[in-house]
Amino acid sequence: MKALYFDYNATTPVLPEVREAMLPCLENNYGNPSSPHGFGLKAKLTVSEARNRVAALLGAAPEQIVFTSCATEANNGLLRGLFPEKGAHLVTTAIEHPSILAPAAALEARGVEVTRVRPNRNGVVDAQTVLDACRPDTRLVSVMLANNETGAIQPVGEIARLAGAEGYLVHTDASQAVGKIPVDVETLGVDFLTLAGHKLYAPKGVGTLYARSRRTLPPLLLGGGQEGGLRGGTENVPHIAGLGAACELVRNGLEREISRQRGLGEIFDRELDRLARGVGLDVLVLSRDAGRLPNTRFVGFKGLDLARMLEELALADVAVSAGAACHGGETSISHVLEAMDAPADYAGCALRFSWGRPTTEQDVMDLMQRLGDACQTVRSD
Ligand code: PLP
Repeated sequence: MKALYFDYNATTPVLPEVREAMLPCLENNYGNPSSPHGFGLKAKLTVSEARNRVAALLGAAPEQIVFTSCATEANNGLLRGLFPEKGAHLVTTAIEHPSILAPAAALEARGVEVTRVRPNRNGVVDAQTVLDACRPDTRLVSVMLANNETGAIQPVGEIARLAGAEGYLVHTDASQAVGKIPVDVETLGVDFLTLAGHKLYAPKGVGTLYARSRRTLPPLLLGGGQEGGLRGGTENVPHIAGLGAACELVRNGLEREISRQRGLGEIFDRELDRLARGVGLDVLVLSRDAGRLPNTRFVGFKGLDLARMLEELALADVAVSAGAACHGGETSISHVLEAMDAPADYAGCALRFSWGRPTTEQDVMDLMQRLGDACQTVRSD
């Protein structure tokens, strides 16, 4: 039985072209980019080529790209750097990834004021509400571009337009959006943007922080002056090379891949509907009426037991994510479901299905077959 991987929002496989780009850096191209000899220069060139490729995908200039170890480092570093002391105000949302929410809570504990804007029932925040939350002492507005659970796309361009016009700095965590939808920093008009390599077929352990102006970005790590002094530490050359190749790969034919993945979504919706009617199940697709990523569906299954569903799907070799966690028989729903006031009888068993470049129509059909079997088994427990 073929394993069915429907968890691309958790992480993606490293594609062959990416691996190919990395291999020389694990073999002969092992120099330190800071070294003043041939080995160093070769590694430096590799990093510089990758930087150009990341910049091209984002519509940025190469010098606006800072490589990090992951999206979490970029988000933490930006927040810590911009709020070094108590006071000042941060505006963010209640549906951010923990890599924003946790440092925001830590800043709050140190005396920074934090406003967390709530989304509507579709899981989307309102741009004007975000602007209304800003105050004269607001130092940063941070709103994710696409939510990792629902796939709901947030109005970041509009937020940047409104908040930028008032002089506020705007950051977007675009970890789930880059590579799935067109993301252009000029069109968005943001000051900072976070990217996670392993969500777009690069390896884990590499990310990027885009900064419109290097002057507004405090150093993420102090050290040997790498990344133009903004992120000390010897560059992870193999991973950076992989990220560059991945960016090049997703940039080519992005529109074609988006429409292919939308097509998979249509099959998913049609077959889910058929499954629900067939076995008399009540399902709710969360953020259904929002603009969503083409690869994501977050589905609540009314009255089904989440732990049993995950067990049955694991037995059927289906990989998905859950929108809730079970602790000793108690189920706690995710902060995203809670913030969007998702109906409790669906939120208790919400599963996230996310697909990617290697996913085929047959995979979606096979998923639905195994999902239907799992639903029936769990219902008859
Ligand atoms: N931001 C978002 C929206 C994410 O979905 C994730 C990962 O799930 C991250 C940040 C953190 O990425 P990483 O674990 O690579 O640091």
